[in-house]
Amino acid sequence: MASEVIHQWISIPSELIGSIPRTQELVQARTQFESDLMTIEDFRKIENVAVEQTIRELDQVTGSMVLSDGEQTKPSFVTYPIYDLIFERYKFDKQCFQITFADGHVRTLPRLVKAPFKYATYAYKYLNAAKALTKKPIKQAVITASALSMVYSPHLLNTGCIENYSYEKFLQDLTNECEKDIRLCLEQGAHAVQLDFTEARLSLKVDRSGHLLKDFIKINNRVLDRFNPNEQKKIGVHVCPGGDLDCAHSSDIDYTLLLPDLFQLQLTNFYIQLSSEPDRIRVLKCIQEHMKSNHRIFIGVIDPSNPIIESAEIVRDRVLEAAKFIPIEQLGTTDDCGFSPFADDTSTPREVCYKKIKARIQGTKMAEQILNTHH
Ligand SMILES: [Zn+2]
Repeated sequence: MASEVIHQWISIPSELIGSIPRTQELVQARTQFESDLMTIEDFRKIENVAVEQTIRELDQVTGSMVLSDGEQTKPSFVTYPIYDLIFERYKFDKQCFQITFADGHVRTLPRLVKAPFKYATYAYKYLNAAKALTKKPIKQAVITASALSMVYSPHLLNTGCIENYSYEKFLQDLTNECEKDIRLCLEQGAHAVQLDFTEARLSLKVDRSGHLLKDFIKINNRVLDRFNPNEQKKIGVHVCPGGDLDCAHSSDIDYTLLLPDLFQLQLTNFYIQLSSEPDRIRVLKCIQEHMKSNHRIFIGVIDPSNPIIESAEIVRDRVLEAAKFIPIEQLGTTDDCGFSPFADDTSTPREVCYKKIKARIQGTKMAEQILNTHH
């Protein structure tokens, strides 16, 4: 009789990036609140309802094991820490850092005009609100120090500084605030903390030499070096060509120019846009070459900017394809991006998001089954 070797079952974790389009009620309420047509109390009530509804739907409709608050109450993935200080400390003008998307629309980051740099809002606030509504693990996205480094307007580096507030002093304050943002989420029991590093690929568009990317990696590692290896296991990074209103800002930049530097970040989990890449195999080969033995690679198997809903079988095949290059023990799945990084982006209906997420969960399970039985 043949003896049977019992292998340990290897699970493939699947997580969303974070954002889900805001509910219609919330989008309307935000407009009214910002036009002084609604009190903050009424606005908060509507925000709470939206968070509660999103967590319930993510749990019950999609079957996700790890949830998020859908970023319902974030004004955007990048400005949330400083949003409440915008009129007090920031300015919007021609010297601001701007991102131009493929369809020509622009998003502007305000520039700091009053020192010192500080956060008004830390992400643990969102995490705690979500944790109060479910027993399932909650993932929390935070913004990178490198993205917020762009509020120190680049022209100041050449022409002077704000109130004797040097760039180095600014970076120290930024590093402290970003560390605090991550640490508070870890202390409050986040399942994972994900740094949204959408400007990584963009940096190669701004500076083809790669120096800006290397500076961004350095700025982020200044923060990450303050965490011990156990804490770093719960920290991850998300990269993509930047999604907003169903289009991107840097998909014309070659991914393989970004990945070697990306894997120098002192963290464990990489949430990597992949499904919308024209040549996935080339990207997977680059990942295989540069990833480290302690890394987990969550590959994007769903494209949020494509209205067509992926089937579970498509997802399964994408996972099986990736498993040829990434050991199953180090593999995970995610969506290519959040579904709505900015609060006013309602380009994708919520039902479509949920169907896409459900396909990701089911397709990942199907691949897990195959990979474990043919291992
Ligand atoms: Zn993204």
